[in-house]
Amino acid sequence: MKIRSIITGQMTAPLLRPFKTALRTVTTLEEVVIGLQDEEGNCGWGSVVPTPAITGDSEEKIRADLTLLFAAIQGITIADVWNWKESIPSLQMLSKTALCAVDVALHDLASRRANLPMWKWLGGKHTIRMMTNMTISVDVPDVMADCAEIAVLDGFQALKVKVGLDSELDKKRVLAIRGRVGEKIRLRLDANQGWTQKEADSLIPWFCEMCGPIEFIEQPVKASDLNAMISITRRSPVPVVADESAMTYEDALRVLDSGAARALSVKLIKAGGVSEARRILDLAYDRRIPCLMSCMFEAGAGLQAAAHLASMHPSVHWVDLDSAEFLQELPYEGGIRFKGPKIAVGDSAGLDVRFNFPSVSDGL
Ligand SMILES: [Mg+2]
Repeated sequence: MKIRSIITGQMTAPLLRPFKTALRTVTTLEEVVIGLQDEEGNCGWGSVVPTPAITGDSEEKIRADLTLLFAAIQGITIADVWNWKESIPSLQMLSKTALCAVDVALHDLASRRANLPMWKWLGGKHTIRMMTNMTISVDVPDVMADCAEIAVLDGFQALKVKVGLDSELDKKRVLAIRGRVGEKIRLRLDANQGWTQKEADSLIPWFCEMCGPIEFIEQPVKASDLNAMISITRRSPVPVVADESAMTYEDALRVLDSGAARALSVKLIKAGGVSEARRILDLAYDRRIPCLMSCMFEAGAGLQAAAHLASMHPSVHWVDLDSAEFLQELPYEGGIRFKGPKIAVGDSAGLDVRFNFPSVSDGL
């Protein structure tokens, strides 16, 4: 497979409501989109959202790295999509976000060429029925309870609640949500590194006692503080999920070897694409570790690819692919449309998405 031309574009869409966490606030979807065309005119799509607050990758760095990657892959024969990165010079210096965009596009292109949906091209024999949670972003308790109530009316059975900005207010937030949605709805709490170890040690049992059922606690403390993660994981009555502590495959290995979490959050942009995310899921399978398939805030090809991977991998126990729910409608054609909690991947070739950008061949 040879890459003959490259398409680049920007996908922008306002969010229906701001997305707020302990680390960032998002009001507009801004996604870098790339298309890779082969010599027969097939096009594979990739897209990423710059998320410097989490990945450290600025948009300028991502665009500069994409230019380097385009120069490296254009015109060469890519025999093995799983190992295309091996021929890239200075690979360790490149941002995972840029690598993710190219990796998703190459996987889309390869599965289109094989005339298989990506989940089947990845080796899936059948798909599992996926239900995503809805994320309730940080706000005052009443507003969070309102959002939770609307999500439940829309059919969501699990809510991922963002906490970590103020521990006393966090109690009021989660209590308000639990009071509004009743006990049948599953709550997942994500502190985005916002608590101290002391806060986590007192808050986690309190939440489980007062606001249960709680399915898991995600990234309670700073990503680099694995000793605190180990201690919290030992004491926690519910699984502790490593998100920011487990950015890459190597991080995931370190987290699991040290017992710093009992579950992993897997995101394509953190890992550097489909193949690296798959390696993490395979590792988790070997260790009998459940995974949450999640996303940064992408709604394009990256989100589609995450859904295809999640639908065929047995390590995925929970699904958090709800970023498209924050948009009025998806600003591209084809693929999964992401309306409501059920996510069903189709049987069309590749990711089946179509963007309408002019073709260019000289980088960004
Ligand atoms: Mg998280």
